[in-house]
Amino acid sequence: MYNVEELRREFPILERKIYGRPLVYFDNTATSQTPRSVVDAVESGYCHTKANVHRGVHTLSMEATELQENARKRVREFVNASSTDEIIFTRGTTEALNLVAASWGGTFLHDGDEIILSVMEHHSNIVPWQLLQSRIGFKIRVIPMLPDGSLDMEAFKGLINGRTRLVSVCHASNVLGTVNPIKEIARIAHSHGITVVVDGAQSVPHLKVDVADLDADFYAFSAHKMYGPAGVGVLYGRREILEKMPPYQGGGEMIESVSFAGTTFAELPYKFEAGTPDFIGIAALHKAIDFMERVGIADIALHEHDLLDYTTERMLKEIPGIQIYGTAPGKCAIISFNLAGAHHYDAGMLLDKLGIAVRTGHHCAQPLMDALGVQGVVRASMAAYNTRSECDYFLASLARVAAMLG
Ligand code: PLP
Repeated sequence: MYNVEELRREFPILERKIYGRPLVYFDNTATSQTPRSVVDAVESGYCHTKANVHRGVHTLSMEATELQENARKRVREFVNASSTDEIIFTRGTTEALNLVAASWGGTFLHDGDEIILSVMEHHSNIVPWQLLQSRIGFKIRVIPMLPDGSLDMEAFKGLINGRTRLVSVCHASNVLGTVNPIKEIARIAHSHGITVVVDGAQSVPHLKVDVADLDADFYAFSAHKMYGPAGVGVLYGRREILEKMPPYQGGGEMIESVSFAGTTFAELPYKFEAGTPDFIGIAALHKAIDFMERVGIADIALHEHDLLDYTTERMLKEIPGIQIYGTAPGKCAIISFNLAGAHHYDAGMLLDKLGIAVRTGHHCAQPLMDALGVQGVVRASMAAYNTRSECDYFLASLARVAAMLG
């Protein structure tokens, strides 16, 4: 039995009051909250095992290294990669995607090539490619979406030609909640010899991800969106491809030997991990994965879908003139909307005064906002610890806000 009240007790922040009212945290897409086990791992890292990793023969350094490398094994298992060599720790999804663009793209893309992105990408899966494009000159083509916010797969197939080298798309949209058919995209792309990059920032917190089954070449995600600490992310990369890529950054830990005559680089995955990593955050990510698997990813998804369906249905019935963006079947628990005649920012401010945290704005997806014909939206997004009674309070508060602004 999914016991949400018991689960909530693991999250100290949920006891907070905002303007004297219990916090209703519906900004989980931006970052999710952190259970006690993850907070304890951070505290223990600073209080008991802090030492730099892979550097010392002393006990603390060996313990810190073991914690980090155990986390790498846990991540490998979690996403079903074939080896820990394929798990690179980064600062987050953004850095992971920049790594792929700079290292893979900088090596394998040339003037005259084409890459495919989608209209629903987060800026972190657009701008790194544009930065590279300004140096190399390849073409970026964009998969449009259908009216329900799902990817137009026929259009995708039509964009592929002999010059296409890469497709980079999100697994789940941070605005629409749409879950894209990555396995199908990878099958089509690979049949044309095209490399596949997946931005998994919004899927890993909600779905069981199996990189072997999806057959993605790269898969990026962030710990802070999956009940883990901020400042840590993961890039999964297929070993044969990683082996052919040059380092992303230079510095300590990523070398085999250095002299002024030349430098040789460390083996995978260290070749891509220059400098001191957030080893305490990485050990805490291990605990976040333990948390998700203890609760059960399928059960979390079921719970979130219940909240999504319940809230969406009532919003459409009870809030006059509401516009919801993204209705694709199987979407994640993300509800982006606008109230008739109201600015999204005003709605978000008023909801905050009632203790409800939602996100407003373009959500780092300006091309998607353009496609939707809006400047911004309000976004309510749910996680494992949200409840139906929070949804009831949100709906009643939204009705008040709509009446005030409408
Ligand atoms: N991609 C998507 C789909 C996102 O939603 C986000 C964050 O909101 C990112 C990438 C960037 O993640 P981070 O800021 O953790 O690097």
